[in-house]
Amino acid sequence: MNKRRRDNFIFRTEHLSKLYPDGQVHALEDVEIDVRRGEYVAIMGPSGSGKSTLLNLLGALDRPTSGEVYYDGRPYSKVRNLERVRSQQFGFVFQSFHLLPILTALENVQVPMFEGPLGAAARVAKAKELLALVGMEHRADHMPQKLSVGERQRVAIARSLANDPSVILADEPTGNLDSHSAEGVFELFAHLHEDRGLTVVLITHDEEFGRLAQRTIRMQDGRIRSDVYAEDRRFYTPLPPFAVQ
Ligand code: ADP
Ligand code: MG
Repeated sequence: MNKRRRDNFIFRTEHLSKLYPDGQVHALEDVEIDVRRGEYVAIMGPSGSGKSTLLNLLGALDRPTSGEVYYDGRPYSKVRNLERVRSQQFGFVFQSFHLLPILTALENVQVPMFEGPLGAAARVAKAKELLALVGMEHRADHMPQKLSVGERQRVAIARSLANDPSVILADEPTGNLDSHSAEGVFELFAHLHEDRGLTVVLITHDEEFGRLAQRTIRMQDGRIRSDVYAEDRRFYTPLPPFAVQ
């Protein structure tokens, strides 16, 4: 594939494989996917199928055993300051929120901004704005343990937006939420995708909400089992289980 075509994709992977040091099986095996800028992609599949491994490699949180990830046409192996790409371009949301318990909601949202150019007043103003965006401005001074789990995830989503990322990478963001809070969080992602043009790559087990995404990538045994765009779904018949080739 020539360079120009690569540049159409925000992410592209080439022969991506991951074998953990103590692993007997490939967590990821020869995965080739591309994600276009502004796409909303759900990654689904059984536990242990390699979803988190793939998301962590896309987000440069981990390195592949072999293969390559391209972000905006640039291969990670040749990016000098990958940490900078990660902190400036990506917002991460995790199942268990990872909020700092000794900080208020407002302070938690500011954490990723500390290494950036903003002064204290601008940081606070921006954090307030982001809390308002996720419907949490009235909880700004609350500590995480005083918030419901759904509210904690909203704060974590506000924090993921702190550095105006291009991409949100979310690993089972509703895994710890009741269905009502989960619905709110999925609506929030859809809103961020539509109104802010964010690229969203989200792992979920929830079939109903997974369907809200434009595209569903299903994994099995470290490989892509199917990759279907929403408009094609009515034509979709599931693939048979993987045959060993
Ligand atoms: P999923 O997110 O779909 O549940 P993972 O990507 O977490 O799957 O895991 C894929 C496979 O890799 C599983 O077999 C899992 O046990 C293994 N694995 C994941 N993380 C590690 C690790 N840090 N060390 C060893 N094996 C791991
Ligand atoms: Mg996982």
